[in-house]
Amino acid sequence: MSNKIPVGVLGATGAVGQKFVKLLENHPWFDLTEVAASDRSAGKRYEEATPWRQYTPIPEPVKNLEVKPCEPALDCKLVFSGLDSSVAGEVEEEFARAGYLVLSNSKNHRMDEDVPLLVPEINPDHLGLIETQRRNRKWSGAIVTNPNCSTIGLVMALAPIHYKFGVARVIVTTLQALSGAGYPGHAAIDMLGNVIPFIGGEESKVETEPLKIMGALEGDRIRFADFRISAHTNRVFVEDGHMECVSVELRKKASPEEVARALADFRSLPQELSLPTAPARPVIVTDERDRPQPRFDSGAGAGMSAVVGRIRECPVFDIRFVALSHNTIRGAAGAAILNAELMKARGYLD
Ligand code: NAP
Repeated sequence: MSNKIPVGVLGATGAVGQKFVKLLENHPWFDLTEVAASDRSAGKRYEEATPWRQYTPIPEPVKNLEVKPCEPALDCKLVFSGLDSSVAGEVEEEFARAGYLVLSNSKNHRMDEDVPLLVPEINPDHLGLIETQRRNRKWSGAIVTNPNCSTIGLVMALAPIHYKFGVARVIVTTLQALSGAGYPGHAAIDMLGNVIPFIGGEESKVETEPLKIMGALEGDRIRFADFRISAHTNRVFVEDGHMECVSVELRKKASPEEVARALADFRSLPQELSLPTAPARPVIVTDERDRPQPRFDSGAGAGMSAVVGRIRECPVFDIRFVALSHNTIRGAAGAAILNAELMKARGYLD
C-alpha cells in the first residue's frame, strides 16, 4: 500500500493534462489515481482516450485507468485542473464545494479577489486567502490558481528586480510556442513560416496577473503592485517555451550587472523547503550573447527555471532583457504541482 496522497487530474487528456500525468510519474508525495475529461473520453481507458504527445511513454499505472467524467465523485482530496476554460470555471467550483482542493491552470478564477494566484517563490503568503475564500463561498475545499503561461516567465524575472530596485513601467513582447494553444492547436498551414500577432485575451492577462502576484496581502484582500505593463503577444512556430523581450523602467537606477546579480541570487521558500519540484535556481542568468533560445533553454531546471539573458541598458527605459520559460511545465502543470507541494508543506493536506 502506498502512503502517498492520491490525486486526480481534470482535463487529463489535453496538452496540460498530459504534462500532469508525465510529471506526476514517480512523484515522492502524490499518487495519480484518477483521470477525468469530457464525455467524449469518459468511460474509455486513458491510453485509448488520449492523443499522447509526450516524448516518454504513458506511465504504466495510468495507461489502463478509466477516464471518469469531471464530477466530484473522484476518490482523492486534491485535483489538478487542465480543463478547457469553457468549462473550468463551473467544474472547479463544484469540486471546491464538494471539499476538494483544486489546483487550476485556467483563467476563470485567477483574478477572483479571494483566490490565490500563486507563485511559491514570490507570494507564498497569498495562500492566506483560502480562509477568506472558504468563508465567502461557504465551501470546505479551495481553488488555488497558477498564472498564465506567458505571465510566469515575466514575473519570475520581474519580482527579484522589483524587490531590489522597484519597477515603474514595463513593455513586453512575447513569442509564444504552439503548445500554448493546446492540442491540436493551430493548423500547420497557418503557422509554417509565419507569426500570428494575436492571442485572444492574452495581453490583458500579462498586463494584470503580475500586479496581483506581486501585490501585498492586506487582511482579506490583495493590494496590487503599482506599476504598469504594456504587452504585445505573438504566436510563433516553436514547439515549447515562451520567450519574452522585456524593457523595464526602474524606480532606483541599477546597472545591468546589478540586475543580473539580483536575478541570479534570487532564492525563496520552495528552495528553503526543498520542495520536490522546486528548481535549485528559480532564475538562471546566461551571458551568452544569443541565448536564451527555446530549443536549448526551455528545459532548464527540468522546465521549472526561467532563463534570462541579454541583460543590457535600454535607451528608452532603464534595463532590457530576454526571458524564457517552459509554458506547459513552469507555465502550467509544473507550477500547479509546486503549488500543491507548498500547500502540503503548509499543512493544507493534513
Ligand atoms: P487542450 O489540449 O484543449 O485540453 C483540454 C482538456 O479539457 C481536455 O482534457 C478535454 O477533454 C477537456 N475538456 C474539454 N471540454 C470539456 C468538457 N465539456 N467537460 C470536461 N472536460 C472537457 O487544452 P490545454 O492546452 O491542455 O489547456 C487546458 C487549460 O490550461 C486551458 O484553460 C488553458 O488556457 C490552460 N493553460 C494552458 C497552457 C499551455 O501551455 N497549453 C498553459 C497554461 C494554462 P477531451 O479530451 O475529453 O475533450
